[in-house]
Amino acid sequence: MEDSHHCRICKSDTELKWPSNLENTISSDSFAITDAHYGQTSAIYQCKQCGFRQCNDLQDVLSFYEDLEDQEYENGRKERYLQAKALLKELKDLQPQGKLLDVGAGSGILVEAAIEAGYEAEGLEPSTWLQEQAIERGLPVKKGVLSDVSESEQYDSITLIDVIEHVVDPIMLLKEIKARLAPDGYAMIVTPDCHSFFARMLRRKWWHYRVAHIGYFNLSTLKAACTESGLDVISYNRPGWFFTMDYLWVRVMQYFPRWLRCKPMNWMNRKTVSINLRDSLMVIVKAEASHPHGEG
Ligand SMILES: [Zn+2]
Repeated sequence: MEDSHHCRICKSDTELKWPSNLENTISSDSFAITDAHYGQTSAIYQCKQCGFRQCNDLQDVLSFYEDLEDQEYENGRKERYLQAKALLKELKDLQPQGKLLDVGAGSGILVEAAIEAGYEAEGLEPSTWLQEQAIERGLPVKKGVLSDVSESEQYDSITLIDVIEHVVDPIMLLKEIKARLAPDGYAMIVTPDCHSFFARMLRRKWWHYRVAHIGYFNLSTLKAACTESGLDVISYNRPGWFFTMDYLWVRVMQYFPRWLRCKPMNWMNRKTVSINLRDSLMVIVKAEASHPHGEG
């Protein structure tokens, strides 16, 4: 990054939207996928030109992910598996088989679902703990990030599920994807939508405003980032999510005053619900035909 105060998508100037409200020092725990401290972020800046929101003060967050452990994430494996299956269904129409790479694969949940769906799938994950969970299950997930993969490795599909909001240079990540997509390859990108109804209504209290998210997209900034990286958006959708009732309960309770909060009831444990709050974006992209492989 040449200048942290310029928009990470269009390079224009940014202005402060909300100052930091972090109560504690940042640690790997703050980066847990299941972190429930909604609304706590470092200062959020907004681009004067395109409206992209980003945390200018957080530059190197990869080391937090490397040390991340998240048992609660593993506990929700069944629900995340259903989620992965639903996402792969969207990809299946365009790319029914071939080599698939899941970037930010966690403990290999999507990789497992993709193998089941007939893909030759593998994953990449920076957290040692999560990657080890995948290996213990016999799932092909390597420790690392996309830049560790040689550009000569080409994939028919690349999935980037809830990852792009965590990186300091989303354009570079998208260009790295483009460089590793086979000529007829497709990539699927999923990220929260900061212009969704709930995001607008809850403002900073929206559940996706959290310390680990350092970039906030809406459909237009996500499309702009793809175009800037030489990727054409083929389609977009708003995927729903699967949760257990108790997981959801704990998170809904965050919106109640402390004295009104109560623990989930026993019957809620492991009871799965599917909801679509329409506050997540999914785009499917492919490399622009006019740009030869390797450019940019
Ligand atoms: Zn911008």
